[in-house]
Amino acid sequence: MPELPEVETIRGQLDKVLDGKTITEVEVLRAKSFLGDPRILEGKKIREVKRKAKVIEIYFEGAREMVIVHLKMTGQMVYVGGHPTVDWIRELPSKHTRVVWTFKDRAKLFFNDMRVFGWMKIVDLDEYEKGKRRTIPDVIDEGFSTEYLFTVLKRSRKPVKLVLLDQDKIGGIGNIYVNDALFLARINPLRASNSLDDVETKRLHSAVVKVIKLGIKYGGASAADEKFVNVFGLGGTYQKHFLVYQKNGQKCSECGTAIEKIKLGGRGTFYCPNCQV
Ligand SMILES: [Zn+2]
Repeated sequence: MPELPEVETIRGQLDKVLDGKTITEVEVLRAKSFLGDPRILEGKKIREVKRKAKVIEIYFEGAREMVIVHLKMTGQMVYVGGHPTVDWIRELPSKHTRVVWTFKDRAKLFFNDMRVFGWMKIVDLDEYEKGKRRTIPDVIDEGFSTEYLFTVLKRSRKPVKLVLLDQDKIGGIGNIYVNDALFLARINPLRASNSLDDVETKRLHSAVVKVIKLGIKYGGASAADEKFVNVFGLGGTYQKHFLVYQKNGQKCSECGTAIEKIKLGGRGTFYCPNCQV
């Protein structure tokens, strides 16, 4: 599942390649993947691509509508301009292509989604912006302060890892980065959320921000079970920098103890039983 760094990678690339492009056609190959009337978008010129948590926001010049996109489990947005970067994108649309945008200059944007949980949605710009003001902060927003994190953690007795993954409390952190952040902060993922003191919370806050920023720097992670591709059909490289994620049985980089893997809330949880207390 793409997490914040993967979505941010896609957002940054879309913002560059789609800037000023005018849509000539939106073809919906799977009705479930597109909400709204696709004809509304014809003739619209793209102004900017932004992001809120894991939602990609596409803004148009002088329009009352905008498009929001959620990639969910397996969504991909692949752009094919004049010079495709890899061979397979010439084979698009594929059997997983759900929506195709065509632009005036003949460039295309393919929304592929194997599992069909992702969506593209046309929404009213003003209503969307109003609703957004009420949403919780992203981990790389200014609103995500140590104080905010402390308040969130204090309200729950659940394992700290599950609270960090709760998208209704903290926006944009997913399974890969939460494992690495807890390792960096030397906190056991099973610890009761409200048992963390302010020093540990401060450490956790910096660790979360650090791993998310590293993820963005390396263009996201493309691990064996997370086949993320960016808009040019290429993978990220954060997987080369995993701290504990998928490293079960390997030695901890700090103390040499074997990294353990357990299941927590149905997700693979990796940690050093010696360093993380
Ligand atoms: Zn260790």
